[in-house]
Amino acid sequence: MDKTMRDGLRAHLEAERDRLVSEVEAIDREGHEALSEASGENNYRDHMADQGSATFARELDMTLDDNVREALDAVNHALLRMEEGTYGTCARCGKTISEERLEAIPTATLCITCKSEEESR
Ligand SMILES: [Zn+2]
Repeated sequence: MDKTMRDGLRAHLEAERDRLVSEVEAIDREGHEALSEASGENNYRDHMADQGSATFARELDMTLDDNVREALDAVNHALLRMEEGTYGTCARCGKTISEERLEAIPTATLCITCKSEEESR
């Protein structure tokens, strides 16, 4: 991988990290709002009427939360691997991950062969 491509991917990953960090912060904020709303008035979720919807919305928030944090972990991990100089190398077989794959999935830690083997297990 040449420097231009690595720099491009790093910039992409850093932008993605910033976006995810603010998303995590937004979710944290909303979580607190949801808590205070539950004990007070103005709960817009009451519009959804049935008693299951608040629970459902909370579960949805938590799933979203997990997904965002997982994505953030992956991005941080990729940036760390860049620092270490192991970025672009398959974590399983040690071969170079194709540039096409990294451009499509900058957080990929496995080459396409290992990834498909892992998925078929
Ligand atoms: Zn591999």
